[in-house]
Amino acid sequence: MIQVTELGYMGIAVKNPDDWKQFATEIVGMELVNEGERDRCYLRMDYWHHRLVLQAGNSDDLEYLGFRVAGADEFEQMQRQLSEAGLKVRLGSEEEAEERRVLQVMKLQDPDGTPIEIFHGPEVQFKKPFHAGRAMHGRFKTGAGGLGHCIVRQKDVEAAFRFYSLLGMRGGVEYKIRFGKHVVEPVFMHCNERDHTVAFGLGASERRINHLMIEVDNLDDVGLTYDLVRKNKIPVTILPGKHSNDHMYSFYFRNPSGWMIEYGWGARSATYQSEYYVEDVYGHQPESGGFGMPDLNK
Ligand code: FE
Repeated sequence: MIQVTELGYMGIAVKNPDDWKQFATEIVGMELVNEGERDRCYLRMDYWHHRLVLQAGNSDDLEYLGFRVAGADEFEQMQRQLSEAGLKVRLGSEEEAEERRVLQVMKLQDPDGTPIEIFHGPEVQFKKPFHAGRAMHGRFKTGAGGLGHCIVRQKDVEAAFRFYSLLGMRGGVEYKIRFGKHVVEPVFMHCNERDHTVAFGLGASERRINHLMIEVDNLDDVGLTYDLVRKNKIPVTILPGKHSNDHMYSFYFRNPSGWMIEYGWGARSATYQSEYYVEDVYGHQPESGGFGMPDLNK
C-alpha cells in the first residue's frame, strides 16, 4: 500500500488578507511571500516555497489540504490505489501543478467534501533561507513531520477513517471525553513521526477546520507568542497545557478568520500502537468559549 508521507501544504480562504498577513508574520512568525498575484500570497515556515496559501475569499475556511507522496512512482500507484477503491480522482494539469509549485498533483475530495490534493516534488528553495516574520528564538519544526496537524470536520467519522486509511494513514480513537452521559471520541491519524496529522470526530461545526497546529523547536517561542497574543488582545481559546496523546505543550488562539492556531513545542513521536486518554497531562482549560474544542482538563 502506498502511503502519504506528510501534510505538505494547506490553502485557506481569508476575508481580510491584510489582517491575516499581519497576524501570520508579526504574531505567528511566518514569512510572507508576495509574488504579485492579485488573489493570493504565500506563507513560508522553512525552505519550501510555501506551506500556506492565503487566498482572498469569503469562506474564511480551509480550501484544500496537500498531502505528499515520495515520488513519481508512488504518485502513479496512489492514483491507482484511490481509483480502484472507487474514488473520483482527477490528475491535475501542468498548470495546476505549477500553481502549487509541485511536480505533479491529483485532486479529490474527502467524505466531508474538503478538497484533498496529493502531490510529489515540492519546490524547495535552498538559496532562500527562511526569514521569520518576527524575531524567533528557534525555528518551526517541520521536517519529516510535515507542516503540522489539523482537526477537520467530518460528519461521517467511519467514512473519514476509511478515506484517510486509504491514503495510507493509521490511527484511531485517542481520547474518550465525558460530558455527563455523552462521550466524545475523537480519531487521530498519522502518516509519519508526528503523533497525528489529521484528526476528526469533534461533532458538527460550521467550518471545515477547527485548528491548525504548528510546532516550534524552542519552548521560548511558545512563551513569546503567548505574550504577543495577549498584548494584541487576541482571544486565547485554550490556555497553555500539555496533551496526553502527542505530549505537545501548547496553547490555542483565534486567527483573523475565526478558527484557531495551536502553537506547540516538545511533542513526542507517534506511538504506532493504540492508546487512549480521558484527560490531558495538565492545563489546556478553555477560555473565550474554547471554539468547539472539548475540555480536556478534568
Ligand atoms: Fe491539536
